[in-house]
Amino acid sequence: MSTFSTFNTLNTSAKPMRIGLIANRSHQDATDSALVQLLRGARSALHQLQPEMIVVGRTLDAILTHGLIDSCPQYERFPYGREGGLMKLVSRVVDRDPARTVDAVIYLIDPVDPSSIFPEALALKRQCVIHGKPFLATLAAAREWLELEACATGKPIDTSLNASFKFDGEGIALIAHDAMKNRMLTLAEKHFALLDQFSYRYATGTTGGLLNQLAQKIKGKEAGENWVKPFLSGPLGGDAQIAELVLDKQIRRILFLEDPHVARQHEADIQLLERAARTVTDFASVISDVDGSDRWLSLLTKRTIHPQS
Ligand code: PGA
Repeated sequence: MSTFSTFNTLNTSAKPMRIGLIANRSHQDATDSALVQLLRGARSALHQLQPEMIVVGRTLDAILTHGLIDSCPQYERFPYGREGGLMKLVSRVVDRDPARTVDAVIYLIDPVDPSSIFPEALALKRQCVIHGKPFLATLAAAREWLELEACATGKPIDTSLNASFKFDGEGIALIAHDAMKNRMLTLAEKHFALLDQFSYRYATGTTGGLLNQLAQKIKGKEAGENWVKPFLSGPLGGDAQIAELVLDKQIRRILFLEDPHVARQHEADIQLLERAARTVTDFASVISDVDGSDRWLSLLTKRTIHPQS
């Protein structure tokens, strides 16, 4: 099938958001696949945002087969993966031309699909991190992001998602590579009230130690000293320890401020943690967009359902 690049023209706003969309094969075909759940569940958010979607070949075929194209009425077909669709998407992430660039990527990854670790798949995520664009690799991450962004433009909240916005009883993981540790502390200080609502906070070793120092400054020496539970340092296995809690559904969100510009001796551990989240795709999210994490935390604060409400 040839590619074409016509956006249907339902959108009238000046600058619609442009989202790249791809799902691994096992997330496409079933009637309850992650792709189907996303497009059905986020229908009102997509209607509100009216994004232009750049959809990689077989994912678009699946959307058409499921009769769900009304969820993304403005779309551009990209080639099939084997014809370079994913590679072209990487190019669009880094493109500065507003008429071509994508603002966010939804890539519903099945961690046991070999194509999910092809170089272009890894480059897609890395370039999203470098260029400050959300990379949403799980159903939960994509649903949450679409809901928050749509609510930010005036959509009423989707009450069916309330359970996932209740932080009492929930865990969050906070990880920052060395160059990002100050950024993490700034974010944690600014959004302390939100992070404090979680019943459990976890971190890798050094990040956790710094966050507990911050908490002591804010809450007092005793109350703040165990604010975060630090695991081992990332290079010594802390990412894997956090991954186990993700797989056990004790951590739903991971804020991972990674440094994409250095060689990372524990790259395998970092990917292990991301793969853990993708293993429980309807539950867990990794937020690795450093620039966007302030916005994410602000929108989460607005969307929070307080236990007493
Ligand atoms: P750290 O680990 O918090 O112990 O520095 C994070 C990492 O560098 O992976």
